[in-house]
Amino acid sequence: TGSNAALLARRANAVPRGVASAMPFFAERALNAELWDVEGRRFIDFAGGIAVLNTGHCHPKVMDAALEQAQRFTHTSFQVVPYEAYVTLAERLNALAPGVSTKKTLLVTTGAEAVENAVKIARAATGRSAVIAFDGGYHGRTMFTLGLTGKVAPYKTGFGPFPGEIYRAPLPSNRSGLDTDACLAALETLFLTDVAPSQVAAIILEPVLGEGGYIPVPAEMWEGLREICDRHGILLIADEIQSGFGRTGTWFAIEHARVEPDLITVAKSMAGGFPVAGVIGRAEVMDAVAPGGLGGTYGGNPMACAAALAAIDALDAEALLPRSTALGELFRARFAEIGARTAPWRMWDIRGLGAMIAVELVTDFETAAPDAELTKALVDEAQQRGLILLACGMHGNAIRVMVPLTASDEIIEEGLAIFEAALAAAVA
Ligand code: PMP
Repeated sequence: TGSNAALLARRANAVPRGVASAMPFFAERALNAELWDVEGRRFIDFAGGIAVLNTGHCHPKVMDAALEQAQRFTHTSFQVVPYEAYVTLAERLNALAPGVSTKKTLLVTTGAEAVENAVKIARAATGRSAVIAFDGGYHGRTMFTLGLTGKVAPYKTGFGPFPGEIYRAPLPSNRSGLDTDACLAALETLFLTDVAPSQVAAIILEPVLGEGGYIPVPAEMWEGLREICDRHGILLIADEIQSGFGRTGTWFAIEHARVEPDLITVAKSMAGGFPVAGVIGRAEVMDAVAPGGLGGTYGGNPMACAAALAAIDALDAEALLPRSTALGELFRARFAEIGARTAPWRMWDIRGLGAMIAVELVTDFETAAPDAELTKALVDEAQQRGLILLACGMHGNAIRVMVPLTASDEIIEEGLAIFEAALAAAVA
């Protein structure tokens, strides 16, 4: 290894600029909610590798499980020789998923792959082609998931045309200015203007918009969507890739809405830092695809499955779901205090579910005009003071909380103190 400067120069020469890094330093090691760079500087991690580390960096149980598996075998391909960890994880997810219907689970490797497969399964099960997604939704960077993603820059710029039969509708939020009734009416209009409901295989959305700004979708919206789907034979897909596994205080964020989706996509914090993703769904829907129609060389990697089982155990054993709820309350309170004290009228719409909390930075509270520049400055000032922050939102002006749920109160308060100092410097 070398200095950050030397590594950044090598990176610039060897790696395309299209894959951007939010932080200007290189990781050396990490533990729970702390990370050290190659120059020995310590950081508190509020980004958790983009919501992957609800159980923290290198949770001892997760590491033990993965290493134990690695010593026996690391890969067979489940499609060649199956192994127990895949089946056990599927059983675990089937039991955890909300609702009364019998479930089955497909395992893949990345979130985008999970969404791709959810769409394939929905098409096979319905014999229909169209998919409806929403403004500000994020579902991945592969061609179909990019088509579903409802934000142009930087994700879609230069990559079109996208696959056909993707339709888009609005969601309720303080920014869209629309309520649930208006958004359900917009769907009915879409059925008149663009696509007959009889052609629609699935409606896909996140229970809390992730990249779109940590905006919770109201329970009434989910109820309305469930009713529309039932009326027209459309499958309802909850993309829980960012909101799942305790982030919102429940196993799945959809539990807050008390609606049972037909399919759920999962990834990220399911395995505490190991790459595995999945589609959980009603058994008869999942079995619509003929043998051989689903899979991939690496899907359900054995080490990642073992890690996932340990991460799920840790979420349970360490009571991290109630911890998430408590952390959410703490962050809401602290953001309100810090805003009033340090950046009056610049922090707008503190929102979220459980510990999936975000706040927008604005130039003017009355008009809520987004301040992406201040947000960038805050992220940079925070980084200089030893805190990793990540922005999100349609206008890049929301700061989101993805801190490990295993972080101690001391670390959280230390991070919040850095947040306040960085904000003070950024607004100055
Ligand atoms: N869906 C959602 C809701 C996500 O947050 C993400 C990742 N940010 C994805 C899909 C894509 O996951 P991946 O990056 O693992 O492909």
